[in-house]
Amino acid sequence: MMDSDPILSMTLHLVDWPLRMKRRHGVGDVERSLPGVVVELRSRDGLTGWGEAAPWSVFSGTAEGCAQALHVYLRPLFEGAEPRDLPRLMRAADRALFGHPEAKAAIEMAVMDLIGKRCGLRVADLLGGVFRPTIPLSVSIANPDFAEDLDFAREQIARGVRLFKVKTGFASHAEDLGRLEGLRGVLPADAILRIDYNQGLDPWDALPKLRDIEAFDPGFIEQPVPRDRRDAMAEIACALDTPLLADESVFTPAEAVELVRARFADCVSIKLMKCGSMRRAQEIAAITEAAGIAAYGGTMYEGGIAIAAGIHTVCATPNICLGAEFYTANYVMGVDILTAPIRLDNGQSHLPEGPGLGIEVERAALASITRQVLA
Ligand SMILES: [Mg+2]
Repeated sequence: MMDSDPILSMTLHLVDWPLRMKRRHGVGDVERSLPGVVVELRSRDGLTGWGEAAPWSVFSGTAEGCAQALHVYLRPLFEGAEPRDLPRLMRAADRALFGHPEAKAAIEMAVMDLIGKRCGLRVADLLGGVFRPTIPLSVSIANPDFAEDLDFAREQIARGVRLFKVKTGFASHAEDLGRLEGLRGVLPADAILRIDYNQGLDPWDALPKLRDIEAFDPGFIEQPVPRDRRDAMAEIACALDTPLLADESVFTPAEAVELVRARFADCVSIKLMKCGSMRRAQEIAAITEAAGIAAYGGTMYEGGIAIAAGIHTVCATPNICLGAEFYTANYVMGVDILTAPIRLDNGQSHLPEGPGLGIEVERAALASITRQVLA
């Protein structure tokens, strides 16, 4: 049995990520910066565990609320606790605090980082072992300046990326079709184009628009209608030949059970920031796998810590087989707080080496984006 190494302290860094590019989505826009939270745990033996929350106010919650949730409600549970008690601690976190999946995901990844560092195992090993050491990388086309996005796409093609997700539903249908036409002219024949509406269509006239989109032969169409319109999702899934993917409609394992029951999509996007834990992500993957529903590795606006946790999760989870969008820390966030960037090459995200999350944080970079420290 592992000897005792309790968590001595939790430090919260409320940060403002500058962004390198503007982003548009059916659910809302991101212009210059976006707040987030970095969690730093210290154990008695001097180990540091890192976690990150990436809330987005229009999608799930706020960074300010997330920092307070960690500070006021989760701190008393985790300070003084043993990392190896993580399953019980996460249950206690659910009892103490409704919702706030980003806060719970962040604290879980920080504790898993500590456990891995202490016993010399990667987080992916702690999650059951490595099924795939690399993950096909998907990048999203979401810049309102489409010329800039075409340059970004060309750059990514040169780096071996073959999965492209186009964000639609933030402008007119005609503009969406025009952007797809433009992108088709740039993509190589072996590229796979996918579409993500981020809930941007009204259910009553979604279908004719989606039929136009189908002419571009997308690999899947993601979340065309609002998250609660699962009835409309089910009708669309039946009406289209293209696989329909649920993102905002499925946050939790319980919602994954609803997906299996009502069959309102053919595949699902799993995000740590939606379900609140790597273990829960694996639960969703297992529930959907048993029903023949494939999963995709989704992200929010995440820096390198959360991206690393996502990579460990997808590498350890066979059913998350549709690739993953682990590009934000490298290409979207204006500051990389890791000492070494996440390795992306040949169109793949690579599992970081080293114990725990396999990353280290550059303190000066973290300080440069920190708005407030809660200790
Ligand atoms: Mg999405």
